[in-house]
Amino acid sequence: MEFTDTLLQWYDRNKRTLPWRGAGDAYAVLVSEIMLQQTRAAAVIPYYGRFMAALPTVEALAECPEERLLKLWEGLGYYSRARNLKKCAQAVVAEHGGRFPQTVEELKKLPGVGPYTAGAIASIAFRRPEPAVDGNVLRVMARLMEDGETVTEQKVRDRWAAYLKSRMGDRPGDLNQAFMDLGSLICLPKSPLCESCPLAGFCGAFAHGTQADYPNRGEKKAKRQEDLTVFVVRSGDSFLVRRRPETGLLSGLYELPNQSGHLDQERIGQALTKLGVRPLGAWEIVQRQHIFTHVIWHMQVVRLNAERIEAPGWVWYTGSEPIPEAFLKCLR
Ligand code: SF4
Repeated sequence: MEFTDTLLQWYDRNKRTLPWRGAGDAYAVLVSEIMLQQTRAAAVIPYYGRFMAALPTVEALAECPEERLLKLWEGLGYYSRARNLKKCAQAVVAEHGGRFPQTVEELKKLPGVGPYTAGAIASIAFRRPEPAVDGNVLRVMARLMEDGETVTEQKVRDRWAAYLKSRMGDRPGDLNQAFMDLGSLICLPKSPLCESCPLAGFCGAFAHGTQADYPNRGEKKAKRQEDLTVFVVRSGDSFLVRRRPETGLLSGLYELPNQSGHLDQERIGQALTKLGVRPLGAWEIVQRQHIFTHVIWHMQVVRLNAERIEAPGWVWYTGSEPIPEAFLKCLR
C-alpha cells in the first residue's frame, strides 16, 4: 500500500471539522486558504464565519469598500492578504463572469493566488489531480524521506509538487487536506507525535530518530528590532487614531499616536503637548511587543485620559476604523 492510501484512511477517521470543509465551493476554499496563510485554523474560524456572512459571494467581495474589508480582517494581520483577496474577486468577476477558472494555470493568473492556493482550489473545488504544497507538506515529506534539501528553495517545492502530482489518485482534494491535518495535528514542527502517526511505518526520520533534523529551513535572517512609544489617548469610550499612509507597513489602516524610541517622562510630556493633548491625571506605562515578518516592535505604551480636543490630522475612534493587531494590543 502507498503511503498516500494510508494517509487517506487516517484522514477519513480523523479529519478536522472545519466550517469551510464540505462546501466544495471555490470561493470558500479561496477565502479559507488565504486566511490560513500565517494564521492557525482555530484562530481563523470566527473570522471566516463573520467574513462569509458579510460577503457570501465573490461578487459581494469584489464590490466591498476597502475600509469595510479591512475592518472584517481586523486582528488577522497581514492585511495585504485582504487586499489581494479583493483584487482576486474583482478579476474573477471581470474576466471570468464570476465563475472561478478550474485549472492551476488559469488560477495562478489571479492576483494573490500562488501555486499552493491554486492547487488547493483546483483539487478541493474541482477535483483536479493537483498537489497543494505548503509548509505542512514540506515538513512531512522531508521527514518521511529524510530529505535534507532546503525547503525554502523554490526548486525543492517544485520537486515535491512533481512527486506528489503523480500520486494524487482519485481523491486529490482529500489528500491535500489530509496532509494539512497530519501536519497540524500529528507531524508538528517541534514535537511530532510519531507514536500516533499513521505514516510511522513509512517514515525514515522516525526509523532513525532524526525528526528534529528535518525539514532543513536554511539560515533565517534576524528580524530588525524597533523601539516605539505609543500613546493611548482616551476620552470616554473613544481614543485618538489616524489613517496611516497608503504605502509601507500597515498601509491604509488606523494607528495610535506613536513616536520612534522609548521616551522618558519629560519627552512624553512634550510629545503630548505637540499633539495638543491635555492629560486628565497621571498616565500609566505598560510594555507590549508585536512581531511582524521582518521587524519586531518593542512598544512602550503610555495610557492616559484627556479632554476631547480636536487634534489636527487625528480623529476619535468610532468603531468602524480598522486597527491592526499591533495597536489593538496596546488597548488591551
Ligand atoms: S512518523 Fe513522526 S516524523 Fe514521521 S511523518 Fe509521522 S509524525 Fe512526522
